[in-house]
Amino acid sequence: MGDSIYSTYPPNLSPVQQEYLVTTIKNWAIQNGLAVRPAPTALPVGADDNRVLATNAPVTLFPSPFPAACFEEATALQTIYNQLYAAITCNEEWLGKIIEDLVDVDDFVANLWKTHLEVKKEGYVQDLSLGLFRSDYMAHVTPEGPPSLKQVEFNTISSSFGGLSALVRSLHAELLTSPPGSPISYPPHPLFDSNIPPENTAVETLSGGLAAAHTAYGPSKSTPALPLCVLFVVQEGERNIFDQLALSKHLTHTHKIPVFRLPSNRIIDDTLIPSSNPSRPLIYRPPHSPETAFEVTTVYLRAYYAPDEYKSSRDWEARTHLERSAAIKCPTIQQVLAEPTGPDHLTSFMGGIDPAIIARLRQTFAPQYDLSTDGQGRKLAFNPETAMKHVLKPQREGGGNNIYKAEIPNFLRSIPEKDWKGWVLMELIDPASDAENVALRNDGEVLRGNVISELGVYGTILWETNGKVLHNDQGGWLLRTKGKEVNEGGVAAGFSSLDSILLY
Ligand code: ADP
Ligand code: MG
Ligand code: MG
Repeated sequence: MGDSIYSTYPPNLSPVQQEYLVTTIKNWAIQNGLAVRPAPTALPVGADDNRVLATNAPVTLFPSPFPAACFEEATALQTIYNQLYAAITCNEEWLGKIIEDLVDVDDFVANLWKTHLEVKKEGYVQDLSLGLFRSDYMAHVTPEGPPSLKQVEFNTISSSFGGLSALVRSLHAELLTSPPGSPISYPPHPLFDSNIPPENTAVETLSGGLAAAHTAYGPSKSTPALPLCVLFVVQEGERNIFDQLALSKHLTHTHKIPVFRLPSNRIIDDTLIPSSNPSRPLIYRPPHSPETAFEVTTVYLRAYYAPDEYKSSRDWEARTHLERSAAIKCPTIQQVLAEPTGPDHLTSFMGGIDPAIIARLRQTFAPQYDLSTDGQGRKLAFNPETAMKHVLKPQREGGGNNIYKAEIPNFLRSIPEKDWKGWVLMELIDPASDAENVALRNDGEVLRGNVISELGVYGTILWETNGKVLHNDQGGWLLRTKGKEVNEGGVAAGFSSLDSILLY
């Protein structure tokens, strides 16, 4: 990367050129659905009362260079990661032990586990689980060798941005391949010569997983039989709706499966499980067409993954209602609980895997330390010098709660020692990047500067509780790029931009 070809990347733009490119991208974004709903707080009161506005998703003007070897390795390992997380999820006894440790420091985890036990007591009627996963990485650079692939986190829930990411790839590819001098094109740069971002099949992969679950559900369990559908349970006022619609559109048009969106606060009103049917099919009646009823094969949860979404007992009731039903859940409660288990725990599930592959998986682990006992982790966290090389992460999913570097010691001192076991200390991955890019934020602001990129690779797996895998696939990717000085990485939270890749 120290190469001169990269030090002149991306090409310089005069103010007029930049404005022209930004306008082109803004138009392309809306024309093609590379969009998000605007934050209500960013608008004057009353400006969007009819909820019609959309704005470009935050994107980079140029694709970012990313090491080809790291990209290929991430792709090659995805189905193995899928398999490992499926294995953790269906090892109830093992998961139970991990959770026991967390229930007294985390109400959310405790409530999820309680819900699971409640449904288990009655008996689950669905033996299949669907995972739509995304494994996130950075290219770690050391002075010694080539960049190596290091995992930031593995997402078993809320693996979003597949739809928009595929669109960013199309946007950049179009800018790269238009006839030179055409209005939709970049100024010349040697990196652009016959280089376009790799194919991005995220939409196909993720919808393929949902379609596999839909098919595996089998015929209707209702008498008389009902037509079958997939249900996306969503947050009310979801701003990232166009990302989700890319999946439902593909399911409907390519797989011929009806897909409905149901805000989580409507679950109790619009779905039911007939008490007379021991198979417990989940019946959905669309409010716009109440005379038709559908049987839900697969519930894709794009809601209910953070504690603040459970505002009252009605939300837990709704979650329990879904869990009791015969619909295949993505994710199941067990998947949510398995997500933060991390590399140490994964190791216990590598039994049947080729040792050569295990060695490659291990290469992707950044060192992580448990803080529950007085050991190496606590030493590193409290020493101001070593703390600077680490990030402290909550054991539970939710996002945006990491504590970085110098803040770690004081943060730990500010919470009771008994709660430290709810946190994991992780060594910082160092992309050592002098890469630059230009970001177009969704409020229209344009920022140029040093950036760090994070690669996500999508995978999907369908399995039975006994561990038998029916579908295991990978494909499609996400590149998110953020300013080098920014700690957090979320696009939805406004910290980073959607990007695509030039492999080198
Ligand atoms: P979340 O669930 O909030 O997405 P992450 O583990 O992905 O949690 O952390 C959020 C962001 O923090 C990441 O996108 C990345 O930018 C940064 N980050 C997390 N872990 C590391 C790490 N080990 N090294 C460098 N940056 C990290
Ligand atoms: Mg993340
Ligand atoms: Mg996460």
